[in-house]
Amino acid sequence: MSVLLGSCLCSKVSFECNDEFEQFHLCHCIQCQKVTGSAHASNLFTSPQNIKWLTGLEFVKRFDVPGRTISTAFCTECGSAVPYLSLSGEALIFPAGSLDSTATLMPQDNIFCSEKAKWYDDALKAIQFNEFPE
Ligand SMILES: [Zn+2]
Ligand SMILES: [Zn+2]
Repeated sequence: MSVLLGSCLCSKVSFECNDEFEQFHLCHCIQCQKVTGSAHASNLFTSPQNIKWLTGLEFVKRFDVPGRTISTAFCTECGSAVPYLSLSGEALIFPAGSLDSTATLMPQDNIFCSEKAKWYDDALKAIQFNEFPE
């Protein structure tokens, strides 16, 4: 089983985990839109003990959305999303972008699609460039 590395944008927070994920959901709920500043969260689920923090744990801040089962954690220096334990404590959730390499498990579904950003379907059809267009 291979080991994956992860980090935040400023690199103060870093961690590793085994490439052992059971679920991969793209969540389109309104709270995930706020948390990510984008169309959806991309969350990989693994067992609670599958992480080894390497650096910067003191920079990790957790936020639990009042009245909801949604939480998030982020680097207090750069704001990047980092792994966190679910409120139930039964799963460790990795924002896919926090990993520095690609997990074997691919996305399984899109959830909370009734709350999907109005612009998302058009985004999937938009022209693609490999850099800023001329
Ligand atoms: Zn950071
Ligand atoms: Zn969500």
